[in-house]
Amino acid sequence: MRILIFVEQTENRRLLADWLGRYYEVVVGESVVQAGKALPLLNESFDLCVLDGAALHHLWEWVQARKHAEQPVFLPVLLITLQADVKLLTRHLWQTVDELIGKPIEKLELRARVEMLLRSRRLSLQLQAALEQERELKQLKSHFVSMVSHEFRNPLNVIAGFARLLEQPDLPSERRADFFQRIQAAVNSMTALLNDVLEFGKVEANGLATNSVPLAIAPFCRELIEEIKVGNNTDRTIEFNCENECFTVHVNEAVLRQILTNLLSNAIKYSPPCSTVWLRLQCQAEAVVVQVQDEGIGIPLADQVRLFESFYRASNVGKIPGTGLGLAIVKQVVEQAGGAIAVSSQVNVGTTFTVTLPLSNGLNE
Ligand code: ATP
Ligand code: MG
Repeated sequence: MRILIFVEQTENRRLLADWLGRYYEVVVGESVVQAGKALPLLNESFDLCVLDGAALHHLWEWVQARKHAEQPVFLPVLLITLQADVKLLTRHLWQTVDELIGKPIEKLELRARVEMLLRSRRLSLQLQAALEQERELKQLKSHFVSMVSHEFRNPLNVIAGFARLLEQPDLPSERRADFFQRIQAAVNSMTALLNDVLEFGKVEANGLATNSVPLAIAPFCRELIEEIKVGNNTDRTIEFNCENECFTVHVNEAVLRQILTNLLSNAIKYSPPCSTVWLRLQCQAEAVVVQVQDEGIGIPLADQVRLFESFYRASNVGKIPGTGLGLAIVKQVVEQAGGAIAVSSQVNVGTTFTVTLPLSNGLNE
């Protein structure tokens, strides 16, 4: 916090600079009466301005302008004055000043007043930051809505187009089958997107239901792998590896399903069909560590930091379809469960995502 001092009386100025300088960053102005409006310090930023009557007399318009410019954030002004002079303060000067301190200045009283004013300033700044964040979130949401609508338009157009084509009479049966298949694919991609959006909204609104149930984790993973293979229409190898004996753990099944589905489908999607995907599970005393590794296209280092932002996709995805929502969802559910997610990847070598989920903290007894 930075304090700007405009005090005409040399002795007071020195004292104030000395006392306050021990606790705060202090900037001391020269004599306002001598320098007039040409004071170089008038454009400096500060969190509290300390003035005496003579300085205020010259600077009240500037003070009002600065306070006005910072609105709605509170910019405090402390006036040093003789008790006797208080009644001389005119109404517009009252509006400029937030606190008074009588001369001769008492050290402790000064410190207390300065501290109180700076606290109000701090709170006001925090409030402003929160408002700013709220505004950003609003923007993010409208961005989200427009992106989703955009993503929906494409498959909808495809469906409408092929449905129209199907109306043609005498269509050879293989063309008919092809059109049906294209419609099917578009419906699938819309369903996937819709699921992402719904999950995202749900997580954002109030988090997933945090019911943790005892789960036989290894069989659960094997079943899920089968589901994912069917869902992705692939018979590729997904190797499951359970490092130590993982038995029943208290874990939120929906959270685990969401994380694994997203990570495994990514691993399949971003690697060649003949390659292998590994799912490794490690049960520790207080956490489950899940690792999904592939031999795919990898993620350029520059993209890795932004990977978990909604709609962010790495520069090397080429024509591989996707919306960039999956990892944002995963990160959100992982963090809500008190866990962490990390990525390590090398382009054209492969990618490993590691998720650590605590077994306490709502996931365990
Ligand atoms: P969707 O929302 O349909 O999942 P997506 O797969 O593009 O779309 P995310 O799952 O959020 O979105 O992944 C974000 C980006 O991270 C991907 O676009 C891709 O660039 C990169 N990525 C994620 N997983 C892998 C992986 N296993 N190998 C290579 N790149 C990956
Ligand atoms: Mg994905």
